[in-house]
Amino acid sequence: MALLQISEPGQSAAPHQHKLAVGIDLGTTNSLIATVRSGMSTVLQDAHGHALLPSVVRYAPDGVVVGHEAQTQQSADPINTIASVKRFMGRSLHDIADRAHIPYRFLEDATANKQVQLQTRAGLKTPVEISAEILKALKIRAEHSLGGELTGAVITVPAYFDDAQRQATKDAARLAGLNVLRLLNEPTAAAVAYGLDNNAEGTYVIYDLGGGTFDVSILKLTKGVFEVLATNGDSALGGDDFDHRIYCWVLDKVRESSSHFTPLNEEDTRLLLTKSRQAKEWLTDNFEAQIVGKLSNGTLVDVTLSATQFVELTQHLVTKTLAPTRKAMRDAVLDIADIKGVVLVGGATRMPQVRHAVEDYFQQTPLTNLDPDKVVALGAAIQANALVGNRSDNDLLLLDVTPLSLGLETMGGLVEKIIPRNSTLPVARAQDFTTYKDGQTAMSLQVVQGERELVADCRSLARFELRGIPPMAAGAARIRVTFQVDADGLLSVSAREQTSGVEANILVKPSYGLHEDEITHMLKASYAGAEADKKARMLAEARVNAGAIIQSVTQALAHDGQLISLQEKQTIEAEITQLQTTAQAEDAIAINKGVEALNHATEAFAQARMNASVSRALAGKNIENIKL
Ligand code: ADP
Ligand code: MG
Repeated sequence: MALLQISEPGQSAAPHQHKLAVGIDLGTTNSLIATVRSGMSTVLQDAHGHALLPSVVRYAPDGVVVGHEAQTQQSADPINTIASVKRFMGRSLHDIADRAHIPYRFLEDATANKQVQLQTRAGLKTPVEISAEILKALKIRAEHSLGGELTGAVITVPAYFDDAQRQATKDAARLAGLNVLRLLNEPTAAAVAYGLDNNAEGTYVIYDLGGGTFDVSILKLTKGVFEVLATNGDSALGGDDFDHRIYCWVLDKVRESSSHFTPLNEEDTRLLLTKSRQAKEWLTDNFEAQIVGKLSNGTLVDVTLSATQFVELTQHLVTKTLAPTRKAMRDAVLDIADIKGVVLVGGATRMPQVRHAVEDYFQQTPLTNLDPDKVVALGAAIQANALVGNRSDNDLLLLDVTPLSLGLETMGGLVEKIIPRNSTLPVARAQDFTTYKDGQTAMSLQVVQGERELVADCRSLARFELRGIPPMAAGAARIRVTFQVDADGLLSVSAREQTSGVEANILVKPSYGLHEDEITHMLKASYAGAEADKKARMLAEARVNAGAIIQSVTQALAHDGQLISLQEKQTIEAEITQLQTTAQAEDAIAINKGVEALNHATEAFAQARMNASVSRALAGKNIENIKL
């Protein structure tokens, strides 16, 4: 998440040319849209004065319903009322672990890496289409209140979102008829809303506790560039869990007071969960909350929960957020004293016990003067405003960084990193590769994402082939592979054989599938696996070397075997067989020794070939054609 200073002179518009640009926080639980009006970033409200649009879409018999209305119908029509669709963005069926607990009907599709589809009353729907409905509702809201068509939008995504999830978000926006100026990382947006980009240098923590997810990001700001030092979190921890604690407490109370208690049906569960959420939110500013409701079996619920009791009930959840926080600090190799500021994001950070825990841990008062559930949208709007050129030209435009390294598979299943993690976007890097075999006319390239040394431990994003390479000796072809990541974090790769100009391109629309946990896991594993990786790399390299020498010696023997005695030939062949066996074992040192032994055994043969080639050249033959 880096912020790069780009000023585009001559682009600042006169007031009457003010372009309508918006920032959108497409959240798991709630979505918002904001814009900059008279120099102030403001969240736009709907006709009823609601700023937050619940991220719930219902395919009703008479059309699509989004937001509060859809939310109230969730229990009555669970299959057609989709909440938290953000969890499925850019994901395949394979990636969605706990499907049994999700009330939707997934289309069971054997095709791996295909994005999930949900069966609804209105037919099959992808998460992209469902998200597009949320975006459409926000777009209409903005156009009503701003009185014109939008020029463009900045949409925020979690910092750990991979290519597939970012691409899916962009697709949803396009489907909603929005012109996406840029995708922006949520923690970066929060930092921008607080103006951290134009005041101070230093390291900041963005603590984001939303409805169903917890994300912590550590950003370092130096000379206008924000770098993500670490991200961590818990994809199954948020405000909903606090609701659930209250819900369980209420059930216990009801059970205590009623002798013939029957299990709750879906509707009662939903009712009590909603009441629990309201009580939780009420307790943020009040000492006690009353929970009153009538269950379908006639049981009357009427209980009172005190703020103190609520804090006790949920203390373990608050504590649970500190583990990923600590891990992020450890990954970034930072002490509490290194943190210049802590920004609270997400509606659930309104709870006083959360604020206290963060304050206690970081030994400083977190920044809370902006609404924690609006701060991401506010920052996105500031960014959108700058991107359409409404601001004077010394304003900052922000650019993000790549969340994971991008690279290519090389011989032996190794990863050659081309764009390292945390590179500022947009970025382009090129690297030259060569062929492994004589006369090789095609090359298969696998693009991978991850921090590990071995392809098997990284995620494969795409494969493509470069064909039509003119046949050349191994190592003679010069294949330049260029990786380019645009400002939204989307990757395109091209490969070009330099001598012939043969070219192959691919826009990496990666196979849908990496889960946020996997990224965290992959990052963690890359630290933990560093030693094992080094060993694996040594082994793979040794094997590649062994393969190359065996191949060239075998070819030379076939070609020039008559230059040496039968006995010498047999010695070399024995060394080859020996090396082939050694190469199958896991001992890199032994393989390297075998390579050395084979080299040694072929010294006389190499000399003989050299002499022969010299005399052939002297005889007018072309020396180029003779090589060892
Ligand atoms: P997301 O990022 O997941 O879309 P939000 O940032 O909108 O989510 O946070 C939603 C969560 O914040 C919900 O669990 C909601 O109950 C909680 N929340 C909102 N207002 C309050 C409040 N006043 N006190 C406690 N929790 C709140
Ligand atoms: Mg959020």
